[in-house]
Amino acid sequence: MPLLVMKFGGTSVADLARIENAATKVQSEVDRGHDVIVIVSAMSGKTNELVGWVESTSKLYDAREYDAVVSSGENVTAGLMALRLQEMGVPARSWAGWQVPINTTSAHSAARFVSIPRDNIDAKFAEGFKVAVVAGFQGVSAEGRVTTLGRGGSDTTAVAFAAAFDAVRCDIYTDVDGVYTTDPRITSKARKLDKIAYEEMLELASLGAKVLQTRSVELAMRYKVRLRVLSSFEETTETSGTLVCDEDEIMESKVVSGVAYSRDEAKMTLVRVEDRPGIAAAIFGPLADAGVNVDMIVQNISELDNPGDKRAYTDMTFSCPTNQVLRAQKAIEEARDKGAFAYGNLVVDTDVAKVSVVGIGMRSHAGVAAKMFSSLAAENVNIKVIATSEIKISVLIDRKYMELAVQALHDAFELEKA
Ligand code: ADP
Ligand code: ASP
Ligand code: MG
Repeated sequence: MPLLVMKFGGTSVADLARIENAATKVQSEVDRGHDVIVIVSAMSGKTNELVGWVESTSKLYDAREYDAVVSSGENVTAGLMALRLQEMGVPARSWAGWQVPINTTSAHSAARFVSIPRDNIDAKFAEGFKVAVVAGFQGVSAEGRVTTLGRGGSDTTAVAFAAAFDAVRCDIYTDVDGVYTTDPRITSKARKLDKIAYEEMLELASLGAKVLQTRSVELAMRYKVRLRVLSSFEETTETSGTLVCDEDEIMESKVVSGVAYSRDEAKMTLVRVEDRPGIAAAIFGPLADAGVNVDMIVQNISELDNPGDKRAYTDMTFSCPTNQVLRAQKAIEEARDKGAFAYGNLVVDTDVAKVSVVGIGMRSHAGVAAKMFSSLAAENVNIKVIATSEIKISVLIDRKYMELAVQALHDAFELEKA
């Protein structure tokens, strides 16, 4: 039997009626001759509620107990989905992560897959079951404790199962009918893409487009999983949604194919650090040890206090997620107190956002940066930090201009036109 993986996100299983709607889609695929592995998220809002309960109970919570609590939402939807399918006459069984088992590392709340042995689920299919419903977002560590994969992790569970079970495709059902040129919530001009290359989707996801968790795209690219994003609220056809695929499957693509944003960024500047060999390592080592995800980095040109002065000074600026600012600040201050480096001042700006343009066409086209900067200038948006790679350009700007910037860039690169 060809095997299909179908993943339903939170809004697609938000209540019993929506679980029934999703189950109907699963039933259609079974009727078409597929064995199906269904990956479910928790009902929408549930994971946030669980996280809130943990944080209200314990400020410096034990990550093992955090995972015990926040993984529970998916167990409920997995059981309900299996029951609904059974009611429809489809032989289905639910699986919690530990029952499969989905073996992961012990990095609680950010665990990574180690292995997904097929035996147990294969044995159930051999018994005549048609559907295995697996709780997304969770796994089990070598110590036998429940782990979670990081927010949005059910996408990654789905792709991992598609790879482990050689699925014909991995369908990600969500509340939009595909991947758009930008978040359709920001501009009605956003256009749905029929196909997008793995590399572009990877950049868009890592730069903030939350339609797919970044690691799910990484895995899909590595294991060549055909990944499709589509709506659970519309009828499914052969051509529904957006296919995430190899670059050479896409006939023509624009220079810029999408605009992404990330609202929760912070900018930190160490003013007047001594400019000497090893200074960057001295600063960013402790930040890495503290688990801070540093993104953009800018080091200014250095200045001498006086001509003939032996010491030069510079400013070092970096960005990180807003919720890591306290951790970053603590790491820097502790390193300074230990004498790793000295600085004049630490300036923190938590009112910034990152806006990025992405496209594989940038590899061979000049002028994208100039166009991006001039269209932001035309809107009077000041750029605070710039970072580039082969296929993306990102800028840090004041958060209040984020929507405006996304819309201006979408217009400038004419993304509403096919
Ligand atoms: P789910 O709960 O199904 O996992 P998510 O909320 O995680 O769904 O992801 C879907 C959301 O991603 C959409 O509602 C949309 O607002 C947002 N999104 C951001 N960027 C894009 C994009 N480029 N294309 C489509 N959706 C996007
Ligand atoms: N329920 C989890 C979350 O909200 C995982 C997921 O839905 O992908 O982050
Ligand atoms: Mg999601």
